[in-house]
Amino acid sequence: MADATAQLLAGFAVAPRLDCPHVLALGERLNADLSTLDVTAPCEVCGDKSENWYCLSCGRIMCSRYVQGHMAAHATSGKGAEDEHAVCASFSDLSFWCFRCEDYIEHPLLETCRCALHQLKFGAAPGTEHVSLENNAPPPKGSSSK
Ligand SMILES: [Zn+2]
Ligand SMILES: [Zn+2]
Ligand SMILES: [Zn+2]
Repeated sequence: MADATAQLLAGFAVAPRLDCPHVLALGERLNADLSTLDVTAPCEVCGDKSENWYCLSCGRIMCSRYVQGHMAAHATSGKGAEDEHAVCASFSDLSFWCFRCEDYIEHPLLETCRCALHQLKFGAAPGTEHVSLENNAPPPKGSSSK
């Protein structure tokens, strides 16, 4: 069961933070139905499809700092409460990043979301498809995250 997760985590250069308080602030948004989410959707600002993030607060999809940084701009633009738009999920490697903690994060409450994203990206729940994981998930280029 832990194999797929281990493979995903193998891409991390640093150990994720485990005590991000902003996950709790998401509240019931953690239970949002992700079944219609398009994990290949382009950045809503620039249309880039290469490396996008999903904002767990509002569901918007924008590009990473390695593209044009639209998600970072969204998360740090200052509108809303301090704990809003902090946590986002990567469509590239299904990792979670918190823009307030400025770190990769792991949290039990995020596992449902990760499983849903994994299902969408690979067509199966984590741990059930070693082959497709290798076929569909080339390592992110220059995997030096952050
Ligand atoms: Zn945080
Ligand atoms: Zn963009
Ligand atoms: Zn947002």
